[in-house]
Parts: sequence; structure tokens; C-alpha cells
Amino acid sequence: MNILVINAGSSSLKYQLLNPETGDLLAKGLCERIGIDGKFTYKPQVDGKEKLDAVDVAMPTHSEAIQTVLDALVDPKNGVIGSMKEIDAVGHRVVHGGEAFNQSVLITDEVMQALEDCIPLAPLHNPANITGIKACQACMPGVPMVGVFDTAFHQTMPAKAYMYALPYEYYENDKVRRYGFHGTSHKYVAARAAAMLGKKPEELKLISCHLGNGSSVTAVDGGKSVDTSMGFTPLAGLPMGTRSGDLDAGILQYVMNKYNMSIDEMLNVLNKKSGVQGVSGVSSDFRDLENAHKEGNERAGLAVDMFNYGVKKLIGAYAAAMGGVDAIIFTAGVGENSVSQRLDIASGLEFMGVKMDAEANNVRGKEAVISAADSTVKVLLIPTNEELMIAMDTAAIVKG
Ligand code: ADP
Repeated sequence: MNILVINAGSSSLKYQLLNPETGDLLAKGLCERIGIDGKFTYKPQVDGKEKLDAVDVAMPTHSEAIQTVLDALVDPKNGVIGSMKEIDAVGHRVVHGGEAFNQSVLITDEVMQALEDCIPLAPLHNPANITGIKACQACMPGVPMVGVFDTAFHQTMPAKAYMYALPYEYYENDKVRRYGFHGTSHKYVAARAAAMLGKKPEELKLISCHLGNGSSVTAVDGGKSVDTSMGFTPLAGLPMGTRSGDLDAGILQYVMNKYNMSIDEMLNVLNKKSGVQGVSGVSSDFRDLENAHKEGNERAGLAVDMFNYGVKKLIGAYAAAMGGVDAIIFTAGVGENSVSQRLDIASGLEFMGVKMDAEANNVRGKEAVISAADSTVKVLLIPTNEELMIAMDTAAIVKG
């Protein structure tokens, strides 16, 4: 069985063709500058097939982009499948499913309408995701499509975790609440953690730390998300590459009045000029910060310290929320690669049974237990694979 996984942005589209049963990746790549000129990258994962690297292909709309992907996949010379018939279904990443979707779903006309209804919740992302679905439907008539939502996994949170202490009408009338994001990643690594520990998901209390350019921490109790650090939007929670994370809303009034800023200008600062980039003045990339700190840049060190401290506090909070924790998971760019940040985050948590093994922690990008043998709480490094999770969900739905 082969599933085409599509992650459509407003001017770009990432794709992977994979087998959800074996986990084998057949090809991946991306279309960029859709609606501008069009650049196409194709990376077949089969021996003897040639890749394409940002070659010019006209892509006035997402439809030409999808058609370019399909043509490459079935190309007699460098394709990885014989014909379109070998694509069993398409899994689409959709950012926001609101309260309408607590799991992945076969896309029907009613679902398309519900996706449109979610646009006000994610005005930048959902329209692009919808455009990607429509383009695929046009190019691949009759092929089942499934929507997989970043928010769905978190729909199990109890009201006390997802409500904001605002007038209740904002929730009731306007759906203002915590939704949480990165759900596909948290779901995937939580399932892998259970497999690594040889336990059923229902038996485990997990804290999943997805630490990348965007970061979120999730409490997973018995296989279900019970709290998460991102909120109504992905701006909330930890300080991130360029996003502020949580802050006192009173700061907005003070800064906006002082610098005569509009709310859009303020939000631009919070989304694009804050986080570790804003604090350090150096970079949003944690590797740059580590290097700058080594060369004596104190603000770079402070930015990383603030981030690590934020993760540590969330681990403590979620252990308290669940009444314990069996394992802490590190994933995504920073979680999978930064030996020093993992150590810093987990140190000082010995009081709650977390004991790292410095040698075991000296590893990057592969599944590993990185806590000491006598650590009551296991610490796990698990590379995330959102595309595989999307393919697995898609396969499960089309198989019925
Ligand atoms: P995104 O949210 O864009 O998917 P990623 O999960 O790819 O982000 O994470 C990107 C982040 O991972 C960058 O800040 C990068 O610096 C960090 N990263 C990647 N490799 C390392 C490394 N070896 N050490 C520290 N950080 C790393």
C-alpha cells in the first residue's frame, strides 16, 4: 500500500510517498514558489533513480504543483511507481480542525465545509491546506483523501486544561480555547515510546517534548493528550525560534502605547521578532546560539537558558497534573540533536526520579533510552515522523 502525504502551504507544498505498513519511504520533495514561478525538488529513495533539485517548472497554482509531483512519481526513467493506480490514498496535513475533528477523517463534501468553517481559527494555514486538497481532488479523481489535523490529538484535554479564564461567552460563541498543535508528532512519539517500553499506551503517563523551531510540550496520560503548552494559536507556551511564547497580556498595552503600534505590528513582533532570536539578537537557530555562547555572547546563553528552563517547568507541571510520569520524550530538531540542551533540561529533576546517563545521551537522531539504568522515570530520544503518522492514519481510515 502506498500513501501520498501532502503538506500544502500558501506558496509551497511538501510531499512524501510512503508505505505505511513497512514505513518505507519511496520519494519525497517539495514544490516552491507556487503562484510566482515554480521550483521543483524530487528525491527518489530508490537506487539508480535521479533526483531533481529546485528545477524550474511553471506552477501558476497548486494544481500544476500536484501534477508535477505525480508526473515525477510515475516517470518511466526516474519514477518510483509504475502508474497512478499504485497510489492508494492521499493524506493531507491540516493545521486546524477546531472542535469539529478529534481524529483524522475521510474527506467528503461535508468535511470540506467543516474545514472552511475552521478558517477563522487558522487564517494563514487552513486556506492553503484546503487549496492543496482541492488540487489533489482535481488531479486524482476517485482516490480517497484523508485529513489529518495538528489539533485533533489534543481534543481529549479536559475543560479545566483547555479553558481560558475569560468571560465564558468567548468560548461559547467564539470558540476561544486552548487547541494545541504538533498533535501528529506527539501522537507518533507517544506510540513509539509505548513500543520501546514494551507497555500499552493505556498504562503510561508520558511527557512529550517536541522541541524545534516551533516547540510544545504535551502531557499524555493513558495514550490521551490531557494538557499541552500551545494554545488558541501556536504562539503560546515556550519561547521559540522567533515566537515569544506565553507572556503577560498587559505588556501589549504598555508597548503598543509607548511605540504607537497597531495590534498587527505587535503580533508581528511576537511571532517573528521574539523568542530566542529576540532575546539573543543573534539567531533563531539553536546551533548558532550554542556557538555564539561558546564565543562569549551572554545573551545567546540567556536565550537558551530561558528556553530550557521553560521546558523543565512544563515537565514539572505536567508530572503534577498527571500525578506522576513514567517517561519523558525528546523529539524534533533540538530534542533529537542537542545533547547539551537535553542534559540541561533533565538535570535537577532527580527529586522526581529522573537521572540522565551522560554517555547514553551522547546520541543524535535515533531512538534511544538516554536515562540511567536506575532512573525511575525513563528519558527517551525518539525522532518524530509526522509524515509516517499521517500515512498510517490515512491507511487505517481507507481500510475502514
Ligand atoms: P521545525 O519546527 O521548523 O520543524 P525542526 O524540528 O526542524 O523545526 O527544528 C529546527 C531546530 O532544531 C533549529 O533551531 C535547529 O537549530 C535545531 N537543531 C538542529 N540540529 C541541532 C543540533 N545539532 N544542536 C542543536 N540544535 C539543533
